[in-house]
Amino acid sequence: MPKQVVIIYGPPGAGKGTQAELLARRFGFVHFDTGRFLEMLVHAPGVQKDPILRRERKNFDTGKLITPAWVLKMVKEEVKKIGAAGYSVVFSASPRTLYEAFGEGKEKGLLATLVKFYGKTNIHPVWLTIRPATTLKRNSARKICSVCGLPKLANARISRCPFCEGPLRTRTLDKPSVIRERLKEYAGRTYPMFREFRRRGFRVIKVNGEPAPYMVFQNVTKVLGLSSSRSGK
Ligand SMILES: [Zn+2]
Repeated sequence: MPKQVVIIYGPPGAGKGTQAELLARRFGFVHFDTGRFLEMLVHAPGVQKDPILRRERKNFDTGKLITPAWVLKMVKEEVKKIGAAGYSVVFSASPRTLYEAFGEGKEKGLLATLVKFYGKTNIHPVWLTIRPATTLKRNSARKICSVCGLPKLANARISRCPFCEGPLRTRTLDKPSVIRERLKEYAGRTYPMFREFRRRGFRVIKVNGEPAPYMVFQNVTKVLGLSSSRSGK
């Protein structure tokens, strides 16, 4: 089985992180979460000594935009390491912009790096679709642990974190008015990405994200041609 790249997109609540995590646990994919990667970079020990990292850390911590060219450079460097080490990799909700994915002018985007290491036919953009009503329903029920950040399972009737028993909280991001804004922003940003992927000859795989995550996962693994028996590899 050749090494693969899976890039999962979908509106808030579609289960992008869950499917990425399932690919990681079941098939040994590296789950590349760009947000978490950047957070780790700018909060690494020794950051204060590096003027660029110091600047980006300030942007990050004050909620400002992290410099896109810097993000692209760091992500490409990291992905080269993963590709060279021979791991399959899954991205959830990134690359987020046409610039990050395809570059601009002379500067190549992340896809060029991925094509080099994995080959175009092994790169699969996956589009998890759910209705707007499902986004609202799933996100307004979403709570996360205020201590360890673990999400509460969608239908669990619990008031404490299943991992550390910390109290659960609702994220500001998950308030209905904010969710409606995020849906609009998602469509405006992501649909042009799908168009560009297709224009460049990638097949965008649509998967219905409405069923339970394990059922969605069965469909994801089927379209990716991954064996459903437990391989551990
Ligand atoms: Zn917890």
